[in-house]
Amino acid sequence: MDIHTRFAPSPTGRLHLGHAYSALRAHDAARAEGGHFTLRIEDIDGTRSRPEHVAAIFADLDWLGLTWDEPPTFQSQRLALYQDALDRLRAMGLLYPCFCTRADIAASLSAPHGPDGALYPGTCRHQRDPDLARPHSWRLDMARAAERAGPLVWQDAHAGTVIADPLAHGDVILARKDAPASYHLAVTVDDAAQGISHVVRGRDLFTATHVHRLLQALLDLPTPAYLHHDLLAGPDGTRLAKRHGAPTLESLRLAGQDGRALADELRKGEVPIGFGTVEA
Ligand code: GLU
Repeated sequence: MDIHTRFAPSPTGRLHLGHAYSALRAHDAARAEGGHFTLRIEDIDGTRSRPEHVAAIFADLDWLGLTWDEPPTFQSQRLALYQDALDRLRAMGLLYPCFCTRADIAASLSAPHGPDGALYPGTCRHQRDPDLARPHSWRLDMARAAERAGPLVWQDAHAGTVIADPLAHGDVILARKDAPASYHLAVTVDDAAQGISHVVRGRDLFTATHVHRLLQALLDLPTPAYLHHDLLAGPDGTRLAKRHGAPTLESLRLAGQDGRALADELRKGEVPIGFGTVEA
């Protein structure tokens, strides 16, 4: 089988070194095997995605010396696919509309916690005659969905055979009030539709794979192999992300740094002096 990987940034900010590392890992995994590499712009969040971030992503990846095999895809142009998946899940009786605000959920004293923070307490799960004219999201009834799918595993390059535990995520949102699909739904549908054989992405997304594996089973989609790579750490040992003041690729590019040389340093697991190291 031809290996097919992807880099799937959300254009909600400029890319930083951690993104460069992730893009390189996915790109090189495909190139090493004579495979295929796809760039997918995850711009379903219309309120936070910006065209100027998209332009910077193209310029940054080009500066790093990365190439992709066909024109980049934009999730904002694939909404019908997500709608179709949503309709199928709804027809299986696995979705319910949710009218809660973040504040409602935060105020719920009983909200248990999962891998990504507070779990949805299930307030809207059993409503009779919900008023769909009011703004609402769509949530997956996780207990029902997990029961329908039965036991699931995936193959992970570092973790081996992983038993999926989607229940730990609670009733995740699959379509938001302000966006027609959530990250979980769009990424699962697209990885399958684009024939991604190996999902190479950061360890920070490992827990999300539990949900993606479940959605694959419910929607009869193939399961790719996964490689959740290590993350770049800043000088203080914390993860390199914009909120820690990590430099953007754009700032390095505009300062005249050599992007291909930077890419080669990152490939060796080295980060430019002062920026930290690859976490073990
Ligand atoms: N769009 C996601 C992000 O920027 C990554 C998606 C993925 O690799 O699964 O964090």
